[in-house]
Amino acid sequence: MSTPKKVLGIFKPGSTHWVGDGFHVRNLFPSNGIGDEISPFLMLDYAGPTRVSPSPNPRGVGEHPHRGFETVTIAYQGAVEHRDSAGHSGTIYPGDVQWMTAASGVVHEEMHEHEFARKGGTFEMVQLWVNLPKAHKMSRPRYQTLASQNIPVVQLGPAGYARVIAGEFSGVKGPAQTFTPVNVFDVRLKGGTQTELTLPAGHNTAVVLLKGDVVVNSTEQLEGEAQIALLSSEGERIPLDVKEDTTLLVLSGEPIHEPVVSYGPFVMNTREEILEAVADYQAGKMGHLEAKVSH
Ligand code: MN
Repeated sequence: MSTPKKVLGIFKPGSTHWVGDGFHVRNLFPSNGIGDEISPFLMLDYAGPTRVSPSPNPRGVGEHPHRGFETVTIAYQGAVEHRDSAGHSGTIYPGDVQWMTAASGVVHEEMHEHEFARKGGTFEMVQLWVNLPKAHKMSRPRYQTLASQNIPVVQLGPAGYARVIAGEFSGVKGPAQTFTPVNVFDVRLKGGTQTELTLPAGHNTAVVLLKGDVVVNSTEQLEGEAQIALLSSEGERIPLDVKEDTTLLVLSGEPIHEPVVSYGPFVMNTREEILEAVADYQAGKMGHLEAKVSH
């Protein structure tokens, strides 16, 4: 018989800050103290919703490196352009996801899409960092654009639906290729409904409230915006009860039981590997972006 996952704690953002000049984010971990309990996830920034005023020059975050993990960008409102030193580029619009595997190292930039920047509008996005196991930290960089129409939708009866970005829900597989078992679901629930999600026992698990309200396990209440409930790896069921229309990001993953040493955009297993990452970046071994072609 399946048992509910226990709520270990409910957390607010630990910091609010700008990433470059384009992304005003609330950090939902690790700045609030959530760490190993959510392995293999390393970081979650919730950008916006923010009103962006029209500008001929797109804002964002310019050329910077990453090594040792993956950056996953989920667009809710507005649009983001990405390009990197491995020759990958792409634009994502609401409903789309970019899954960028930095692995051995890339230099990239993340900007508001130029038409969005020119017209202005509301911007809302999540960036999630997913750790790589030691065996894949120095793999070749990879880039997956997960277009909205390729992200399957699982209906939750009258309660709403779940979009399966990565992993598997109710026998439906998401399009993201991952290095370790990971589930990422975009869940939309209608006000005044109840539902129940089932996630694997043994997975570290979190329910992130982006908008609305939710009661988890009939007792633990999250309200407003930008809160996270950390759940036990034991158990499978997550009963959810919402009063308002609600947007949740549900995460689970098999923990990676390896040391984590992080320094800004580099996440490795040892201090020596961090020093090597800094040296490799400075020596240009992660490449550079081509000069920008003007539109
Ligand atoms: Mn980046």
